[in-house]
Amino acid sequence: MNLPTFDINKVNTPCYVTEECYLKHNGEILKSVQERTGCKILLAQKAFSMYSSYPLLQNYLAGTTASGVYEARLGYEHFGKETHVYSPAYTKKDMDELLKYAGHFVFNSIRQFVLHKDKMAGKECGIRVNPRFSTQEGHEIYDPCAKNSRLGQTLSSFEEDVEKYGLDGVSGIHFHTLCEQNSDDLYKTAMVVEEQFGKYLSKMKWINFGGGHHITREDYDIETLVRVIEHFKNKYNLQVYLEPGEAVALNAGFLVSEVIDIIDGKVNGERDIAIMDVSAACHMPDVLEMPYRPKILDSRNVLAGEEGEKAYIYRLGTPTCLAGDIIGDYSFDSPLKVGDRLVFCDMAIYSTVKNNTFNGMPLPTIYYNTDDELKVIRKFSYEDFKSRI
Ligand SMILES: *Cc1c(COP(=O)(O)O)cnc(C)c1O
Repeated sequence: MNLPTFDINKVNTPCYVTEECYLKHNGEILKSVQERTGCKILLAQKAFSMYSSYPLLQNYLAGTTASGVYEARLGYEHFGKETHVYSPAYTKKDMDELLKYAGHFVFNSIRQFVLHKDKMAGKECGIRVNPRFSTQEGHEIYDPCAKNSRLGQTLSSFEEDVEKYGLDGVSGIHFHTLCEQNSDDLYKTAMVVEEQFGKYLSKMKWINFGGGHHITREDYDIETLVRVIEHFKNKYNLQVYLEPGEAVALNAGFLVSEVIDIIDGKVNGERDIAIMDVSAACHMPDVLEMPYRPKILDSRNVLAGEEGEKAYIYRLGTPTCLAGDIIGDYSFDSPLKVGDRLVFCDMAIYSTVKNNTFNGMPLPTIYYNTDDELKVIRKFSYEDFKSRI
């Protein structure tokens, strides 16, 4: 459990604070996996694109991967090293731009690759495959193996394309099926991928295991990960890539907020509501989409409890007009007051990259906390809202 190392009363709320010390901690773990196995680990920027930290992360990672043109450009310009990109379909216009930035292109099918093949001289090209082997339950929105998935080619579709187009120019296989998972699920998935696509692997130079590996989580089994990597490396002589997003910035950031009003529920025989100066819909959309329940620290760094765990129960509401924009029901040791600060944990990932100004909500300030200073990276204003509509 990472606690803020900065003074939560010294920042303007609402704000995201990313902490360099925690990025370093994650970086060290990822670096050691690379040193032990020879694999290369890329930052999946869709989870975390805070480029002010790229000069630090360059020391630990082999490059970046992108979901499209803007991320590819950001990685190329600010991170350097290797730039990879994957998209379910590239337009000609995207491709012309991407060619300037990316060295590795992952295509959604051999047919997609063939459409762009004439431009790919000097590039590494891979195909995303889909083993349709689901190891997660509960959130289909994050399961690429769900029925009718558009993400990657199934074995039969892949084989049909091999018949039609051959594999000339294809040097990599990519799969991405995990989400916040441990290496036992990677192991099971990798075995299925091998069973299905093994006969093509000896023709390849690299294999990319995608993201969703929670490598930096305390209970993550790194030894199993190492064994899976070494299996593919030794048996097929492949360069193994991993492209986690979450694991790079896991537990490395906080969203600091303040209580702006308390609604006394007892009047109506209902729950007390604390209205915060942050919105789930705008500032932590995964809380509603995934959905998940963020850990919260009170102003004395004590974890808020489950609904009935502590004496004072509140629903944490938000200032938007969306009825369902609720962060959750939490309990505290003492009553909340207007002006109290609450800290949402693990808010470096899928937060700044996803936030929005629905309802005209201001975007939280972004801070970066290093050993030397607590730096404001970006403050937002009315213009940021106005300029996008
Ligand atoms: C989302 C995604 C990632 C990163 O996933 P995390 O869950 O953030 O580790 C990597 N590769 C692809 C293709 C993705 O779609």
